[in-house]
Amino acid sequence: MNLESKIRNIQDFPKPGIGFKDITTLLKDGEAFKEAVDRIVENLKDKDIDYVVGPEARGFLLGAPVAYALGVGFVPIRKPGKLPAEVVSFEYDLEYGTDKIEMHKDSIEEGKKVAIIDDLLATGGTVEAATKLIESLGGEIASIQFLIELEFLNGRDKLKVYDVESIIKY
Ligand code: IMP
Repeated sequence: MNLESKIRNIQDFPKPGIGFKDITTLLKDGEAFKEAVDRIVENLKDKDIDYVVGPEARGFLLGAPVAYALGVGFVPIRKPGKLPAEVVSFEYDLEYGTDKIEMHKDSIEEGKKVAIIDDLLATGGTVEAATKLIESLGGEIASIQFLIELEFLNGRDKLKVYDVESIIKY
């Protein structure tokens, strides 16, 4: 199936000049959603993954079904103030200003093999921050999987030392 045809482009969202890749049109198509999840599972099945980690919120939509299919646990990364137990935080730079993400301090044990899954790789800032958090807990990043990669933004440059794969490239 041509998964790219299931993604809707919304021009000037959330700001003028940005072409937003809307995955809700893929998610609501049962066959396309299944194929997208299956392809990520296929990329991960021989990598001996202990946990799937997904950043809020679209990383949950793909990360949770992938974790279920692999039979491993899912660990959320969230915006500040959302997780109830003790957290570790990482602040990172955006084009204008900064952002912060958090994980539970006890969510990953030393030496565990982690796959990070998110919907889209743009500049790579979000997932780079995720790698810092996971490594600060002693986790090993075994793979990073994206549904979409915006290649012209060169986000991969920030993730050079990792195994990075994406299903749809623009
Ligand atoms: P990065 O940190 O610049 O790589 O941005 C990636 C994050 O922004 C991901 O968590 C995406 O969910 C979100 N994002 C950026 N651009 C888009 C888009 O066009 N469609 C959907 N999500 C996007």
